[in-house]
Amino acid sequence: MQKENIKNSISGAFSDDFFIYPDSLKFSGDHTFFILKDSHGKYLGAMGPEKLIMESGFTDQVGNDISIDSVSGYIIRLFNRSYKNLKILLSIFPELHPTPLGTDATFGFGDRLGIANAAHIRAVKKQKAVLPVLAQQSIRELSKTGKDFKTVIAQSLWNILQEGYLGRWGADADHIKDRDHFIDAAEAGMTMYTFDTSEHLDETVLNMTGTRIKENYRLDTDYIKSIKKEYLDKKIELNGNKFIFNEDTIIRLALIYGRALEFTKEIFQFLSGKLGTFDYEISFDETSTITTPEAHYFIVNEMRRSSIEFTSLALRFPGTFEKGIDYIGNIEEFDRSINIHGFISRKLGGYKLSLHSGSDKLSIYPSFARNTQGLFHIKTSGTSWLEAVRVVASVDPLFFRKLFRIAVDSFNENKKSYHVNLDKSALPITIKDIDDKNLPCILDDRDLRRVFHIAYGMIIEKEKEQLMRLLFENEEKHYDYLLTNFKKHFDALRY
Ligand SMILES: [Zn+2]
Repeated sequence: MQKENIKNSISGAFSDDFFIYPDSLKFSGDHTFFILKDSHGKYLGAMGPEKLIMESGFTDQVGNDISIDSVSGYIIRLFNRSYKNLKILLSIFPELHPTPLGTDATFGFGDRLGIANAAHIRAVKKQKAVLPVLAQQSIRELSKTGKDFKTVIAQSLWNILQEGYLGRWGADADHIKDRDHFIDAAEAGMTMYTFDTSEHLDETVLNMTGTRIKENYRLDTDYIKSIKKEYLDKKIELNGNKFIFNEDTIIRLALIYGRALEFTKEIFQFLSGKLGTFDYEISFDETSTITTPEAHYFIVNEMRRSSIEFTSLALRFPGTFEKGIDYIGNIEEFDRSINIHGFISRKLGGYKLSLHSGSDKLSIYPSFARNTQGLFHIKTSGTSWLEAVRVVASVDPLFFRKLFRIAVDSFNENKKSYHVNLDKSALPITIKDIDDKNLPCILDDRDLRRVFHIAYGMIIEKEKEQLMRLLFENEEKHYDYLLTNFKKHFDALRY
């Protein structure tokens, strides 16, 4: 059958109770696949000769077969979107798998609910500047949403199938600290591995005088000696900035970063032994140690000396990066910082700079994009979650008020896993006085954004079913909100 005839046959076979996602049609020989939904849920549809469908191995059929053409023997059969069925689809279309994305400009779309990626893909299709990292979850997010890496990839794939995305995409095991989690991520097929070094940095050195350091640390170790040999009195000039590695600077760098770099190497060797190619990101962002230009140079040079291949580096920039709200700090100071770091990264070459907690950091996006000249990665997640909450506020005020109560009541508990510079006493106790029609606007409030952002685990735990139902029933609105939001993000990247 011709593709046009197939399309017509499929759409003609279903009543108005069904919606077929127009971009989802995929062809393989006589087999055609598509994603559709009715008021209960979403399904995988397969059309082809009956014998072929019987032998395809798909299980978990929904409803009865629909006969398309009794002469040719074509039928349509619907299946649940199970993991097993997804595996079969992947064997037919192996190009759907995530891949490492190297130093291409990339944008991470964390999707805690597993349904926002469809809109992310629609946003990505409208531009050519970045490739998407569609599956991106940290260990913290996995534990709060009750998911594992395998589920995260599967959810992204169902979104990809629904939207007919054909481009390359990545899967980021974000902010991993333990070896065990790297094992899980590698086994699930993640393609990008973000090592969070925060637990291996010695930040006490920052506040010590040189004398105190000498009293507290052994400085005659082989490691310190080798570092001194490599860096002492080294002068580096970048774009008019001169960096001199004197003894005090070198010793501090070695003490702060030495152990983290050792572990970075261990993880790299472990991943290299298990995987072919992969993207490796080293993150220094969730610490209070602002990365100096000397530290940036030192980190990269040390990794090169240890033959660690890495794709991106998340530095700690000046200012405060709270999730789901704009940058807090002096934009000029950020600009000066990223200007130097951008130079260093281009000079040393071969890796990108990564901006974490990128959700809604619109005021610094132009500077970040300009100074990295396309060698960047950005991670967002909270901003997509907040658009889901905004849909609730706009269609079901009563339910939204309930979620507000949960978020405020659990604030102190939620604060334990996120750094939020906000006190419970500063929060509104009630939103009773706010009219229903104004509820979506309160999600533009900096404080309430943070309250709802850190409450996602609690809300999912208590109200997941109703929330997912509501978002399913208001799917196009949910996608529209996300598209509007990411248009703002992408516009800000055009400098
Ligand atoms: Zn981070």
